[in-house]
Amino acid sequence: MATTDSSDPVAAPTGAPGAKQKQATKKKRSSTGASKAVATKETSSKSAPKKTATKQPTTKKSTTKKSGENKSAKKSTRRPRRAPFEIAGHAITAGKRMRIELPIGNLMSGTPVALPLIVVHGKTDGPVVWLSAAIHGDEICGVEIIRQVLAEISATATAGTVIAAPIVNVHGFNSNDRYLPDRRDLNRSFPGSARGSLASRIADLFMKEVVTRSDVGIDLHTGSDLRTNLPQVRCDLGHQPTLDLANVFSAPIVIDARLRDGSLRQAAVEAGKIMLLFEGGEASRFDPAAIAAGTAGVLRTLNHLGLTDVAVAPPAPCLYSRSTRWSRASKSGIVHLEARLGELVRAKDRLATIYDPYGKVLSRISSRHNGIVIGHTQAPLVNRGDAISHVAQILAEPPTPGWGDPKATDTEPG
Ligand SMILES: [Zn+2]
Repeated sequence: MATTDSSDPVAAPTGAPGAKQKQATKKKRSSTGASKAVATKETSSKSAPKKTATKQPTTKKSTTKKSGENKSAKKSTRRPRRAPFEIAGHAITAGKRMRIELPIGNLMSGTPVALPLIVVHGKTDGPVVWLSAAIHGDEICGVEIIRQVLAEISATATAGTVIAAPIVNVHGFNSNDRYLPDRRDLNRSFPGSARGSLASRIADLFMKEVVTRSDVGIDLHTGSDLRTNLPQVRCDLGHQPTLDLANVFSAPIVIDARLRDGSLRQAAVEAGKIMLLFEGGEASRFDPAAIAAGTAGVLRTLNHLGLTDVAVAPPAPCLYSRSTRWSRASKSGIVHLEARLGELVRAKDRLATIYDPYGKVLSRISSRHNGIVIGHTQAPLVNRGDAISHVAQILAEPPTPGWGDPKATDTEPG
């Protein structure tokens, strides 16, 4: 992975970002609030590094080097300072955190709308990682995951830079809607264009300001349309560096998923970036298990990439799948699930039963193969054809390097 792309010298930090956990949390809370001015500097508290990350500077300091020049670290007693991180006309000093807003345009009422970013520009060099959530505006678990991650890291103890975009689809987020007001899916609008639809322009802005400045990205999603997902990473299992990161993230299951046209993942991969897509929980709700898995996974990934040294449970072995299948309702009625998220099932095991409103069994849905339940509907009322239960076949062996064509699996959009 590369280094930061901060190209300018100069820099004079004014202090450190949120120090204590609660302060950081508080800050995060305020920053999740409204979007107002164009560049709101996160008010810094004091300069003490965070408690969980205190050990890190020691390790990092030993390798301290300045961006661009890595040799002259010790010739003076004073360490050269890392160049500021330039983004959207702002320069974030090394060792600082800043909230900035990328103007998108105006609402019909004339109120300006902006895409909020929180940039944590570490004191020392390292990779640039973006975290994005709510590209589908109602998928709010990722917003909370980013809030919790940001509460755990401090710029003074970070080597590298984190660009957090907790709400990419601001319009959808504010109206609890997956899509943009024109019903376009932002995650089918990448890489976008500066002159296209609203979705296309937001995609273009995100690519130019965030993706091109980053080395690695983690995009956070949930199930959609009243479906919930077992925490899972979807990625290209045939690409070893991606698979390595997926293993570090350590979600319960890693699914080999083909690239979808117009998705952020496709645009990012084509731009030469490594990207993990995390799915967990359902839209419009906080799912504590998914949020915990996502937060731990992101922190493990940041630790692994050398940005942070935050206390987090070590990775556990993952399951792998390259073949998943939704079972659908063969009758309309009331569905009762019999296999829940994470349950291992065998072929012909009952997944759900559909009743009419008076108790008569209309249909029984069984698994077609052995596997694990990675998603299911949360809706009690279903129409014939609705997706009910999503089962992934588990690979007997973990993927090995050069393991093959990544185009195997299709999944319901999350
Ligand atoms: Zn999504």
